[in-house]
Parts: sequence; structure tokens; C-alpha cells
Amino acid sequence: MIVVASANGKIGIPAAMEILRAGGSALDAVEAATRIVEDNPDDHTVGYGGYPNLLGEVELDASIMDGRTLRAGAVGALKGYRHPISVARKVMEELPHVLLVGEGAARFAAEMGFQAENLLTDEAATVYRQGISGALPPDKARDWLSGGIDRNLARLARLTTDPERAAGTVNFIAKDREGNIAVAVSTSGWAWKYPGRLGDSPVIGAGNYADNRYGACACTGWGELALRCGTAHAVVLYQRLGFGLEQACRQAMHDLAYVAEDPARAIMNLIAINRDGRPIGMTTVPGRTYVWMTDDLDAPVEEPRVVIDLTRVKR
Ligand code: ASP
Repeated sequence: MIVVASANGKIGIPAAMEILRAGGSALDAVEAATRIVEDNPDDHTVGYGGYPNLLGEVELDASIMDGRTLRAGAVGALKGYRHPISVARKVMEELPHVLLVGEGAARFAAEMGFQAENLLTDEAATVYRQGISGALPPDKARDWLSGGIDRNLARLARLTTDPERAAGTVNFIAKDREGNIAVAVSTSGWAWKYPGRLGDSPVIGAGNYADNRYGACACTGWGELALRCGTAHAVVLYQRLGFGLEQACRQAMHDLAYVAEDPARAIMNLIAINRDGRPIGMTTVPGRTYVWMTDDLDAPVEEPRVVIDLTRVKR
């Protein structure tokens, strides 16, 4: 049994492992772990306390996939509910659909009994105001701030791509006693994104994929890149085609060089396992880590990710 996560998922790993040790399912483990990160107000990239979109609204995306049945559920641009991962799971279990967005997702969350609440913390609101005014062209600032912002969102979306603030998401993969694999992803997406923007996180095959027969993968980083390459599915598919785990991940990362306008600035991070539950973490950014814990350990292990330099990949 194993639980693997992006570094910000460390706080959720013990709870996930407890579920697995008690004979619980990989699906229950990844959902429970994700909820802990969604509750954390200090994580500005996930759930409550997440940074908002250009209009100052927190919009959350999440997805969950069951590697046993290949069933999946996801929500995108969900406002007012702090546990999008649980709403995504309900989509998977209660609807004949995979992905709900916006108003429909919120309607469904209410129908399923989730409590609506304000997710924008004072801290996130302050950083948002500073981020937006810092991104405005000085000669336009006064006009745009006094009511012009919503007529200029497309221009602002181009300006507000501060990588320090934009990035972040949580990933979990678990393999349970029965050998079943599940994956969960949750995010508030890019800070100051265009309202309604979805990245890879709620899109099955881009930000997450799990298949008991071959393995699983989940991504963080520039969702637009993973969307265009189907990165999480690519990792699983390359394993199906006979690549080893590391080779499959390397190939999926190399695929990104072809779609990245500037490979030197492209950010992608992934965690993955093979069907035996062996973990790996990979990144384009030196120094990044990931965490994992097997049932014979007392605490999670944090390890450096394998670094891929996309500028050296032949396009
Ligand atoms: N992949 C996420 C998104 O594009 C953000 C991130 O992981 O940094 O929404």
C-alpha cells in the first residue's frame, strides 16, 4: 500500500495511510487527504484560502478517478464550496456524467447537501488587491480600477501571470490493500485567472489519470500545457506501451517541449506510480520535491523530483 503526493499534500498523507491500513479504499484515502489540504487556509492554491480569479472570486477545480473501473468525476470553476474533491466524487457516483462546471456544479453541490460558504480569506483578498494593482499599466490604473476592470479582463489575464502566485495544486495517488489505485487533484487554479478558466486539474487525462492495469499520474504546473498534451494519460499510456515508469514520465515531459512557446519558462510537475505501486516525482524546476509513504513506514518520505530540462529536448 502506498500514498504519493505533491509536497503540499504532506499534511494529508498520515490520514490517507490510516484509511488504507484499516482496509479502506484508495478512493477514500485520496479524497480524505485532499479534504485536509482544501481546509488549510495557508495553502493559497487549493480550497479555502485559495487565491481568486481576476474578479476576486475563488473558483475551484477538482477531479477524482478510480483505477479499478476507470470511472471519474470532476468539477470546474465551482464557487462557494470548500471541498470540490467531494463534489467531484459525487459527480462520479451519483450522475451519468464526468464533469460539471460553474453554476451547474454549484447547483449539484447544494443538491448533494454541501454547505455554501465564502472561501475568500482576508489574507487572500489583500494579496489579490496588491497583485491586481501591481499588474495594471500605470497610465491605465486609475481608469481600470474605477469600474473598468471588467471591460479589460482579457488584457489583464495576459499581465497577471506571476509564477510565484500562479502556481499550485495538490495531487494524491493511493494504492490500497486490494491493489486498487485512485488519484485525486484539487486546485484554485492560477491566481488572477480569467473567470471560468479551467486548467488541467479537472480534466481527466490532462491533470489526472489512473488505471489499475498500468499505473497512475497527476500533474501540477501550467495546466494549459498538460491540457494540450494529455500529460497524465500519456504517462499511463506510455507504460501500457511497455515503457518503464521513469521512461514513461520522461517521454510525457519531453512531449511538452513541442507545445511550450518558451521551454525555458515552462513549468510542469508530475507524480506517478506504476502498477506495482512504485512512485516517482518529476519536474522542470530544480529543487522541487514530492512525498510518499508505504504502509511499513511511520512517516512520509520527502524526496527530490527528477528534473527535466525542456530546453535540451529536440522539438
Ligand atoms: N495546474 C494548475 C492549473 O493550471 C495550477 C498549478 O498546478 O500550478 O490550474
